[in-house]
Amino acid sequence: WPIRSCPPLPLPEDADKALRPQTLSEFIGQQEARANLRVFIESARMRGEAMDHTLFYGPPGLGKTTLAQIMARELGVGFRMTSGPVLAKPGDLAAILTNLEARDVLFIDEIHRLSPVVEEVLYPALEDFQLDLVIGEGPAARTVRIELQPFTLVGATTRLGLLTTPLRDRFGIPTRLEFYSVDELYEIVLRNARLLGIPADPDGAREIARRARGTPRIAGRLLRRVVDFALVEGEGRVTRAIADGALDRLGVDDLGLDSADRRYLRLIAESYLGGPVGVETLSAALSEARDAIEEVIEPYLLQQGLIQRTPRGRMLTPAAFRHLGLEMPKGQGD
Ligand code: ADP
Repeated sequence: WPIRSCPPLPLPEDADKALRPQTLSEFIGQQEARANLRVFIESARMRGEAMDHTLFYGPPGLGKTTLAQIMARELGVGFRMTSGPVLAKPGDLAAILTNLEARDVLFIDEIHRLSPVVEEVLYPALEDFQLDLVIGEGPAARTVRIELQPFTLVGATTRLGLLTTPLRDRFGIPTRLEFYSVDELYEIVLRNARLLGIPADPDGAREIARRARGTPRIAGRLLRRVVDFALVEGEGRVTRAIADGALDRLGVDDLGLDSADRRYLRLIAESYLGGPVGVETLSAALSEARDAIEEVIEPYLLQQGLIQRTPRGRMLTPAAFRHLGLEMPKGQGD
């Protein structure tokens, strides 16, 4: 058998691509950001110029990459994608920049992880669409200036605070992405189910939405796992009972917290009497990278009012103790 004749199994990445909204109107939620982007895109089109550089910041999985792709599509221009850690040398960035066509969108994910030397090269490119490259070494070294096509940089970061001020200042359109409401996630789950061709009851979809941690990427992932259970243990339909049972078995609790979230909360509750405790201490005790704690775990717990950040460290709120089913230590809270 020639291998080609086998029907390709969709890999998770492919499935993801199929689910990605392609236009601003298809994109659910982020009302304010979307309304503003619509104006800026339209204006750039009317002027026939490259759109201003745009920065998306917020927790992972909220749609930064998706919005960058949508921008390029709605602007009717090309889309190039790279990431901060991949651009090790100035030459890596130069190669990409010199290959851009007029008004293209260049997306740099994790832009807070650009190396300082690469960042230096980026500044004149952003400001004047010029590249100053040093050719050769020692006394023979000389700088050459290369003119670039005007382009739009779209940067994405989970950590606005780690961006250098000069880089931050060069984005004309800084845009913060927020966690999604349950209603918005409900619409996203229904849309994904429709695209996957899986029948979903409103109650089943809402259960997934409620427990998706405010994040479309997690909603998509949970839906796929619930579909597995629906196919194997149910009748192929996402019902409330199937969703509920599947999510419990996956360790996703009523608030959408997973085992990593609960381990974090329990540690502060039980070993530090509710805090305050520093993030370095938590990182060591949990064997989790500090970045993962600050980028992935904490934003949602903060948003849910389960923890507070104080100058002396993290503290649990009474709601967190209630959620864990634990007594508040004496002298705390009230
Ligand atoms: P980020 O770049 O912020 O980490 P992505 O843009 O990669 O997030 O989005 C993660 C996943 O969630 C993708 O599969 C995308 O299709 C989906 N997604 C994100 N935002 C939305 C939305 N508003 N509506 C529907 N799906 C979304």
